[in-house]
Amino acid sequence: MVPPNQKHRNVVVIGAGVAGLAAACLLAKDGCKVTILEKNDTIGGKLNIYKKEGFRFDTGPSLLTMPGLLQQLFEYCGADINEFLEFVPLSPVCRYFYTDGVQFDAFDDIPKTQAEIARFAPEDVEAYASFLAYSKQLYDITSDVFLFHPLRSYRDLFQLPITDVFKIDAFRTVNERVNKHFKSSHLRQFFKRFATYNGSSPYKAPATLNVIPHVEMNQGGFYVKGGLYKIAEALLALAQSMGVKIKTDTEVRRIDLHDDLVEGVTTLDRYYMADLVIANADAHETYLNLLPHHATPPSKRRQIDTTEPSCSGFVIMLGTNKKWEQLVHHNIYFSDDYKREFNDIFSRKTMPDDPTIYIANTSFSDSSHAIEGGSNLFILVNAPYLTDKQNWDEIEDRFIKLVIDKLESRGLKGLRDSIKVKETITPRDFYQKYKSNRGSIYGTSSNSKLAAFLRPRNRSPYVENLWLVGGSTHPGGGIPLALISAFHACDIKIDSRRVTLSPQ
Ligand SMILES: Cc1cc2nc3c(=O)[nH]c(=O)nc-3n(C[C@H](O)[C@H](O)[C@H](O)COP(=O)(O)OP(=O)(O)OC[C@H]3O[C@@H](n4cnc5c(N)ncnc54)[C@H](O)[C@@H]3O)c2cc1C
Repeated sequence: MVPPNQKHRNVVVIGAGVAGLAAACLLAKDGCKVTILEKNDTIGGKLNIYKKEGFRFDTGPSLLTMPGLLQQLFEYCGADINEFLEFVPLSPVCRYFYTDGVQFDAFDDIPKTQAEIARFAPEDVEAYASFLAYSKQLYDITSDVFLFHPLRSYRDLFQLPITDVFKIDAFRTVNERVNKHFKSSHLRQFFKRFATYNGSSPYKAPATLNVIPHVEMNQGGFYVKGGLYKIAEALLALAQSMGVKIKTDTEVRRIDLHDDLVEGVTTLDRYYMADLVIANADAHETYLNLLPHHATPPSKRRQIDTTEPSCSGFVIMLGTNKKWEQLVHHNIYFSDDYKREFNDIFSRKTMPDDPTIYIANTSFSDSSHAIEGGSNLFILVNAPYLTDKQNWDEIEDRFIKLVIDKLESRGLKGLRDSIKVKETITPRDFYQKYKSNRGSIYGTSSNSKLAAFLRPRNRSPYVENLWLVGGSTHPGGGIPLALISAFHACDIKIDSRRVTLSPQ
């Protein structure tokens, strides 16, 4: 239960992203009167939807991990998740294509993936299993003390037993650890890729991030029947069933304080009184633009402003009148030179000439997502966060052409001629639409040893009745972590053993 909520009867949530909706549900369950104010005309935040001429796309997340967290949220609220969502385990989780023609399917089943690896990297078949064992060990050591812990104070960071400090592999990079473990350049590139799941570079991020493969390759990756936007719709339905009010097209311009406590928020045309505000807006936006200047110490403002954001993304949604036999649900076309690609993104802050291209093709699993005989290709390329030097008007068209040319040359022959619907989302759009710091899609990057531990906390240390949730706060980006942030803010314990689905 949440004792402090007894004082907070009247709650305003800024933003209807996953975490904002989740926090609204948890607080409504505890008897609060909750209103969500969302600047856009749809709910869901980065988890959103685009439909045109018979094609349907999830515009943000396409892979769900740790579905047990959603299950726990619904359970807490007294609802049966099976009445809202159907989780579909993906097999394979993803198909990988390399520039030398090697192609393989990755399953959440070690022997099955090893059978694939035996074709192109027989020397690393055993190393695959031992790396996933190491990844699981990292998860076992770090999850309870970091992920599932609200880390309210800096002292909490020191709860890791001294004997485990070296086991979390924070003193070398993902790249160094992966290179040491594998001989095959294919597996090296495969395992480095997971650092991008929180918007970081494998050449800079600590090897602790090697925890991520455990989540996808051991615990499994899921699709939600009908598309991932169903998650946003389910959270909305759950919230509304508990009396939460949602106002879209309502941008909060200011969080109002009185005597260092929040007393309400101001939109363009109204003032909303609140005795608790949950900010699901990007923490950078909350601290630097929504709160009055004096509410945050200058050193904290500086730290928030200078911490490196995660990467952004460049999205091209193509509705085609063709099916692509070589594609499954999730697909990755790797670049030739991964190091150069990350150097472009994080150091030069330009779009890479030779990008790794991710394609979610949900029409593979849900034929209703495209016109008959067609496909809905959601194409995502990692992109730098926004800087003054980028000219997106110029980059956009050039990059669409580059990606389509590349995909045609990698086997999607006739792609350009098959396009019926085309829509893009650039880093500039991510900034304008969601107010995410410099268009980043996962909050701050984890490109230094401590960055992951220093994300903004889920309760403001400066304003007692301001809580922060979402991918830009502790513990990080992605749907599962955004959900965890809502539990942390509300001080509700998560059962860390139930992140995969359990029978109800
Ligand atoms: C292209 C892409 C691919 C991704 N792929 C995956 C994936 O496969 N799996 C995965 O788990 N995650 C993925 N993610 C990350 C995931 O989408 C996010 O981490 C998660 O959705 C963030 O949720 P959030 O609660 O932080 O809210 P956000 O989505 O950031 O939403 C915040 C909301 O607040 C609103 N808001 C902001 N300021 C104001 C204001 N002043 N007033 C009112 N409203 C405001 C915004 O409009 C927005 O709706 C992806 C993201 C992107 C963009």
